Amino acid sequence: MTSTDHFDVIVLGGGQAGLTAAITAAENGASVCILEVAPRAMRGGNTRHTRNLRPMHESGAFPMEGAYGFDEYLDDLLRVTGGETDHALAELTIRESEHAITWLQDHGVAFQPPLSGTLHLGRTNAFFLGGGKALVNSLYRFAANLGVHTVYEATNIDLNISGTRFIDLTYQQESNTHRISGHCLVAAAGGFEANLDWLEEAWGPAARNFLVRGTPYNKGNILRQLLDAEFKQVGDPDQCHAVAIDGRAPTYDGGIVSRVDSVPLGIVVNNAGKRFFDEGEDFWPKRYAIWGRLIAAQTDQIGYAITDAKADGLFMPTVLPPLKSKTIDGLAKQIDIPAAALLQTIDQFNAATISGSFNHQALDDCRTQDLLINKSHWARKIDTPPYSAYPLRPGITFTYLGVAVDNQARLQVGSGNACENIFAAGEVMAGNILGHGYLAGIGMTIGHVFGRIAGKEAAKHAH
Ligand SMILES: Cc1cc2nc3c(=O)[nH]c(=O)nc-3n(C[C@H](O)[C@H](O)[C@H](O)COP(=O)(O)OP(=O)(O)OC[C@H]3O[C@@H](n4cnc5c(N)ncnc54)[C@H](O)[C@@H]3O)c2cc1C
Repeated sequence: MTSTDHFDVIVLGGGQAGLTAAITAAENGASVCILEVAPRAMRGGNTRHTRNLRPMHESGAFPMEGAYGFDEYLDDLLRVTGGETDHALAELTIRESEHAITWLQDHGVAFQPPLSGTLHLGRTNAFFLGGGKALVNSLYRFAANLGVHTVYEATNIDLNISGTRFIDLTYQQESNTHRISGHCLVAAAGGFEANLDWLEEAWGPAARNFLVRGTPYNKGNILRQLLDAEFKQVGDPDQCHAVAIDGRAPTYDGGIVSRVDSVPLGIVVNNAGKRFFDEGEDFWPKRYAIWGRLIAAQTDQIGYAITDAKADGLFMPTVLPPLKSKTIDGLAKQIDIPAAALLQTIDQFNAATISGSFNHQALDDCRTQDLLINKSHWARKIDTPPYSAYPLRPGITFTYLGVAVDNQARLQVGSGNACENIFAAGEVMAGNILGHGYLAGIGMTIGHVFGRIAGKEAAKHAH
């Protein structure tokens, strides 16, 4: 064991929530140490993979288009969560998000004009120039210039909590054990989405067919210790952000390129060749997050997104090309599902389409009628070869089970009491705002807002 170091604020996890907390704490006069389990090259957790956040804004100043005010933002959030949110914290997140762009720009992060295509996000989401990796590098650089000390490959962090007070911790690095103490701890070590054993506890054996879209390091070790120390839990173990991703993606870290955005432009069938949900229910950014869960409920956790040539070029391209065939029969053989069943599904679907004026940028009037499961928008006959198929698997992004916090990001202890010196930000507490459902860009928004709150409050407490 080496000698004990001491910092005002110890931050666990160096993704954007941890970095934002560390920078804010340092700017408020605290000595800060970040402990990051990943090696330097893999730093930045899931944040590495991100592209945008969702700020409230009243004007269309760059990089935003138009206005996206408090009421509309809150309505959107309440709709996707079905009201399962801590209203006070949700409102706080939205109001504070107004300062996110300026804060990030002031800390070295650049933005780019919004992307177009099926995402329709120009008005609501601010895109980082160079993506999350560039954001992470900028924030690490800024933190280092402020004197924030970062330890990479800090494994086996073991928290020493007395009652509800953080005392110190040990960690290992290159088989040496180190102890550090701190006035305050900020937990920003993500959810448990990369821990298939923990996911299996919630999802059963189906979890073994999940692909983890992001970092392999978010195993929930810190969350587990905090819950074992009996800090208040928030959220359900099986609630998470999960999207339909290309079934050929790697088990970890496939990132954004494995996402499949063709769903609203065609149909999705399971391995019996049957449709199982309205593919055109709403704009894709508002609905894409339900598809991971939908695929997870299918036999063998697999589905197939089928489109015809009319859809080509209308959605964001994927890294892996789709399987293609000039016939439905040939396509069915490639994806190994019963051809007769797929043909029947497509015949029925085609017969049920009502012709309208197709517009994939609007909730158009192209729909089906009289099917058991109708498609509400963008329903066009699948009749123009070549036909395309993407195999789909549930791609888990991040989990919602977390620690309950208050408006100062302090961990909650039982009935309304707050822990004195442990704060949380990011995925580890996102379940306070996301009971279920998801709104594109709100993950980064929650991490940003609570990172700043946690950093400020931790520095204040340390002094
Ligand atoms: C592919 C993908 C795309 C996404 N795109 C977007 C997007 O465009 N917009 C959006 O809002 N959200 C997006 N998200 C979600 C977003 O990544 C998260 O909401 C956000 O990054 C959370 O930040 P965080 O700091 O809490 O977690 P992370 O960025 O994951 O950081 C957690 C850090 O903790 C470290 N860590 C984990 N366990 C330990 C431990 N025991 N000890 C020490 N360190 C530990 C990890 O290595 C990691 O560096 C995306 C996620 C993925 C996977």
